[in-house]
Amino acid sequence: MKIICQTKNPFQTKKLGEILAKEILKTKLKNNAFVLGLEGDFGGGKTTFLQGFAKGLGVKEKILSPTFIIVKKFQIQDSGFQFRNFYHIDCYRIQKPKELLDLDFKKIISDSRNIVAIEWVNRIQKILPKDTIMLKFDFISQKTRKITINSNFKP
Ligand code: ADP
Ligand code: MG
Repeated sequence: MKIICQTKNPFQTKKLGEILAKEILKTKLKNNAFVLGLEGDFGGGKTTFLQGFAKGLGVKEKILSPTFIIVKKFQIQDSGFQFRNFYHIDCYRIQKPKELLDLDFKKIISDSRNIVAIEWVNRIQKILPKDTIMLKFDFISQKTRKITINSNFKP
């Protein structure tokens, strides 16, 4: 399935993230983690989207561009009061997938309680699970972004 939308300001992009997060919390747990891959240039809106996404998951802390931190973990509670984790991963500083594997990536994506969002996902394409939901952020104008959500990704 492929969904294309345009947002006209950062607030709309955050809202889209928030809606998607709430939908994900409603779905049944799979055998592995729920993984979102975000691609697109600087300023495309990946972090902005994840701020709304984290809010939708119930994360209280502020989501920042983790320029120096590669993996940041947040604990969340879903509607069934189960503890789950949200991992915000930024691969901008990663050169090879091995660097992420060294940070326990396999373990993170194998736990069904984890929801994982990865910025600059193209850097680690080879090690992504097959059911990763891909989100592409295209810059249309200063305030307009095209966001393509694709669930038919093949690594
Ligand atoms: P990335 O993480 O992809 O580098 P950021 O989310 O950090 O991008 O930055 C996006 C920038 O673009 C922010 O300064 C934000 O205010 C601005 N912006 C303007 N319009 C939009 C929009 N429609 N959606 C998202 N961000 C927008
Ligand atoms: Mg970012």
